[in-house]
Amino acid sequence: MSLGCHMSTAGGLYKAIERAEEAGCSALQIFARNPRSWQVSPLEVSAATRFVSLRKASAIWPVVVHTAYLINLSSPDDVIFDKSLSLFKAELSLAEDLEAEYLVTHLGSPKGRGKDFAMARVTRALQEVKKAGINKNTTILFENSAHKGMTGDDLGEIGELINVAHNEGLRAGLCFDTCHGFAAGYPMTNSGEAETLALTIQEAVGAKGLALIHLNDSKGEAGSGLDRHANIGEGKIGNKALKTFLNAEGIKGIPVILETPKKEADDDIKNLKTARKLLGQKTSSKSQARRGGQ
Ligand SMILES: [Zn+2]
Ligand SMILES: [Zn+2]
Repeated sequence: MSLGCHMSTAGGLYKAIERAEEAGCSALQIFARNPRSWQVSPLEVSAATRFVSLRKASAIWPVVVHTAYLINLSSPDDVIFDKSLSLFKAELSLAEDLEAEYLVTHLGSPKGRGKDFAMARVTRALQEVKKAGINKNTTILFENSAHKGMTGDDLGEIGELINVAHNEGLRAGLCFDTCHGFAAGYPMTNSGEAETLALTIQEAVGAKGLALIHLNDSKGEAGSGLDRHANIGEGKIGNKALKTFLNAEGIKGIPVILETPKKEADDDIKNLKTARKLLGQKTSSKSQARRGGQ
């Protein structure tokens, strides 16, 4: 069972692997470039090689790259759409170079133009990605959105887009973010609701559609549309519902990435510990060994 965190790449991409191992992670998510900039500088071969070789020497699986927040593949503005498509293609190439298993992306907003418009826009983007011939081994994961009116606030939409991508011959699946789902109006405050949600996901994307869980509690209320991540067990979802969800059929065994707040130095360690409890895992042998050696 894979469990890890989104880690900083400050000081070099490979540093994220060191940070993940230090925290006892078996999975890792990174930004491969500045997530708040349109600019893409080509990845230095040495940086990619160092990342790939260090990762191979580790037990980390999967490696996940998260795309820039600026990307809006649903945008009605042609200039923004074209820039988003270029950046998305660049991010996919980076992820392929880093031998990442997954590239997680948000689907953007049609800015009030409606669902049909958004679906057509994202479909065109996927066709262009296919034409570029850059998708080889990395699976593109569409992340569900927290806000109503954004593409992917509805899991059925993501299911349709996964089918579109598959028909184009692209690798694609769902990254389900628990905070976003809760904020978008999928109830998850008790065991019954958590079980229903697990079924809803399977119905929307099929038995094999779900590839990754972003495990976050929510500062915002159910249906609030607020994308505000809370520490595990300290938000409005709570440990009981999260535990039932993580252990439900179709969910159990899917890799889990935490995107919880990093205010204190040991926040990751605390959240990982809580997550392990919810997953019924013992403390990872690596962090035990480290503690034993201290
Ligand atoms: Zn995200
Ligand atoms: Zn997320």
